[in-house]
Amino acid sequence: MWPCEARKIPAPPSYSGMTPTVAFVLCLCLLPLLPSQLRVDLVFAGRPMRSDVEAAAVREVRRIWSAYGVDVRAVTADTSRDTAVTLSITLIEGDSGAVHTLATTRFVEGQPRPWITMYPDAVASLLSSEYLAIRGCIRWAQSCQDALAGRVLGRALAHELGHYLLRMPGHSAAGLMRAQPPAESLVDEDWRPFRLSTRDARQFAGMRRPPCR
Ligand SMILES: [Zn+2]
Repeated sequence: MWPCEARKIPAPPSYSGMTPTVAFVLCLCLLPLLPSQLRVDLVFAGRPMRSDVEAAAVREVRRIWSAYGVDVRAVTADTSRDTAVTLSITLIEGDSGAVHTLATTRFVEGQPRPWITMYPDAVASLLSSEYLAIRGCIRWAQSCQDALAGRVLGRALAHELGHYLLRMPGHSAAGLMRAQPPAESLVDEDWRPFRLSTRDARQFAGMRRPPCR
């Protein structure tokens, strides 16, 4: 969830009595092995997006996750890849009930499900803020709105993808998996604040190596 209310996501009950180190090692042992080039197919559903917005969103997700060997694409039933992990991305009207929540990932019994919900109205509300400094394009031009909406949606989606790929219901102090990035950073052209933190990148790399013998 972004921003996230951590209290809504229960810790895995079977891990709750373990020390963090033991739980982490056990978690690594239970994770499936991932191929060296992980493929993630996104299937969009629900409220339609303007094509330029969807293209910008997917471009942003690809840029963020390609640095970690993840090949993200938007697909249809006809173009999905056999070896890919498929995630359903549903855009819905209105909001989640939580202020400024842009997207959520569902966890069941501590495990992420391949279903992400996005709230484009919350993105539009964020972009309409009079206090948000927008540089690089004319604020009310359609092309500007499409590019910015796609950028924000893409960064929110990349964050949710992080919850899924890292099997991580909580958040980090920095980087892509921080809970509440400033609104300015969500629209700024500089995407580098949305890289994984060093700790999260190391954890993700570890998840992609054979963890147990
Ligand atoms: Zn989150």
